[in-house]
Amino acid sequence: MRYNNENGFEGDVWDANTGALEGKYKGVLGASTAQQVIQKNSEAWRGFFDTKNKYHDESNTSVTEHPEPPGFRGNEDDGRQLKTVIRNTSYTVEWGERSRLEILVGRELKDQYDHTGRLRLEIAGDPNWPDYEKQGRLDLWYDETDSTFRASQPVTVSDDARDTPLADETAALDIGANNLVACTTTTGEQYLYEGRELFQRFRETARKIARLQSKLEDGRYSSKRIRRLYRKRTCRRDHAQEALCRDLLERLYAEGINTVYIGGLTDVLDTHWSVETNAKTHNFWAFKKFAERLACTAEEYGILIEVRSEAWTSQECPQCGSTNRTIRHQDTLTCPCGFDGHADLTASETFLRRHIEQAVRPMARPVRFEWDDHRWSELPHSHESPKEQRTDPSTVHCDGNVASGVVRKSEISVMTRISDSRTKSA
Ligand SMILES: [Zn+2]
Repeated sequence: MRYNNENGFEGDVWDANTGALEGKYKGVLGASTAQQVIQKNSEAWRGFFDTKNKYHDESNTSVTEHPEPPGFRGNEDDGRQLKTVIRNTSYTVEWGERSRLEILVGRELKDQYDHTGRLRLEIAGDPNWPDYEKQGRLDLWYDETDSTFRASQPVTVSDDARDTPLADETAALDIGANNLVACTTTTGEQYLYEGRELFQRFRETARKIARLQSKLEDGRYSSKRIRRLYRKRTCRRDHAQEALCRDLLERLYAEGINTVYIGGLTDVLDTHWSVETNAKTHNFWAFKKFAERLACTAEEYGILIEVRSEAWTSQECPQCGSTNRTIRHQDTLTCPCGFDGHADLTASETFLRRHIEQAVRPMARPVRFEWDDHRWSELPHSHESPKEQRTDPSTVHCDGNVASGVVRKSEISVMTRISDSRTKSA
């Protein structure tokens, strides 16, 4: 508000009376958390001013767009997003059969919850890096789409904690909207992550947003409902993408893959797709972000990700090599030469054969996966092997700015026993 010179908030942002805020909230949050929130806020502003200076510095070409100043999380009408940070020395995590997180709270909450002055919370999930040397500042927030609290714990691990590939096999991915990922490996495995339902919901939300936008009064561009829909839509997609990266890379690692080629959005080339649909597909996939997320997760396994543009792979017949005689209808690719196969899986296989010299083993039956809002599960009819039991409901979050490959994050869900904790922590 000071940055915008709003009434009653004149002066520099650094003149804000953070000491008074700390005094006001430390009774509930504890002094260290009150300080951490202020510190995180200051970091955001320092980062903003630093980027802004680079933008205005003509000799510096690293910043080409004016940065946005830090804003509020959420907004006044809609409610703020519930999020906090806990200093690395103010929390402990105990992993085991009944994993738990303990955080320091302020004096005012001591009697209410636990006379030790620590709030104890149950955790669902396992750490991604069980053997860490040091823990960093914990992020704790409320995930509205899942109605659960989540925490992200950055940890420092030694470099030999990183996995190395078990063999030097290769995989290729075809990325699309109907099938999010079609994958073929040189070991003869094929995986298909179905995205039809997810994509449809994404488009439904887009239509809902458009309807609401058309009803806005003149001069208004957004409303709290619209903002909320956007946010939910993004969260849902990100969650599914994160879980997909993890699920896929675990499988590829077990197969001995060391290099993964990704081709971008081939089914967009399908002629019956309109320009508008294409734009929405790109928007839905946020392809660059997905590739980054995949690369970031792959780093943990020592797997290399290479992006290649694959203009014609999706149309190419693997049997005769024709690209202009093939017909793609929904998920099927047919060719006058007699070929008939799954379009996206075929595309990933063609793509794979193009990039490798090694032999590809005969293909096993493809394994199909479906998203159920929490995890990707194998469709029962898709494979002979019994459905894999997954006991870890957590997804692992990696935000792409990992420095020098030593700081990792595990995302965990926190099941709180405090009744009505949303309102209380607000
Ligand atoms: Zn053919």
